[in-house]
Amino acid sequence: MCPAGKKKRKTGYMPIGLFRRIIDQLANKDIVCLSLHKLGEPLLHPRIAEMISYAKEKRIKHVRFATNATLLTAELGREIIDADLDSITFSIDALSGQRYCPAGDRKNIFTRLDRNISTFIKLRNKKGKKPKIFMQIITMEETKDIIKQFIKKWAGIADDVMVKNVLSWAGEFNFGNRKQINRRLLCMNHLSQGVVNWDGKVSTCCLFDNNAGDIDGIIGDARKNSLDEIFYGTKRLELIISQLKGNYKSVPHCMRCPDWNDYLDRFRPARGSLQT
Ligand code: SF4
Repeated sequence: MCPAGKKKRKTGYMPIGLFRRIIDQLANKDIVCLSLHKLGEPLLHPRIAEMISYAKEKRIKHVRFATNATLLTAELGREIIDADLDSITFSIDALSGQRYCPAGDRKNIFTRLDRNISTFIKLRNKKGKKPKIFMQIITMEETKDIIKQFIKKWAGIADDVMVKNVLSWAGEFNFGNRKQINRRLLCMNHLSQGVVNWDGKVSTCCLFDNNAGDIDGIIGDARKNSLDEIFYGTKRLELIISQLKGNYKSVPHCMRCPDWNDYLDRFRPARGSLQT
């Protein structure tokens, strides 16, 4: 369900200097949440703890990321707790190695990440209440029969369990079961999100992969312009106006994307506990 690796993309680590420049620009703005992930595994970044610390020093209200936990050693866990992370989402979608990676003998990977998460929860509990810990499972054919068990396993251990809809990643995947409402509306991602990729390229949607060759969704480059110049600039404005006028073709990845109509799911509070 994840497009990382599906296409040949240029990958890399955001340079710390660029990260600091971005955070400095956000420091006095009313940013609701800073997510340190997009199409990559945040724990791969060798300076992730330093990045969290820097963002918190600059008083960003809520710093978070989602991870698959495979690299979360006890040492790294202590570092990110000490860095004052606000919340962490463990996205694993399975209860066993067999389900996690059915194509190969990857049982050990699952055993390790399961242990990593348990160790992290113990470390967090010892230290206090931060970061909040969320367990996440995505509803798909492969998971629908284990969702109740998943909630049961983690409820009361994690701070909450989130059950999310599968996304198409701007039309990369066709799951064929997406709900659609009759009339298409402007996608709220254009109004509510700002996404800076590792290489500084900026878009308005966390699902859109600029390295897939669709450059129409790129509204600027944080290495060359300030975030104000980019987000109040003509490219974003034109994009919003064209969608308000019903011209969704102006942004090809939006045209093929069904994810716009359930954007609200991404703002809803965790709901696993509601489903038990
Ligand atoms: S329509 Fe899809 S690709 Fe376009 S901004 Fe919304 S979620 Fe992203």
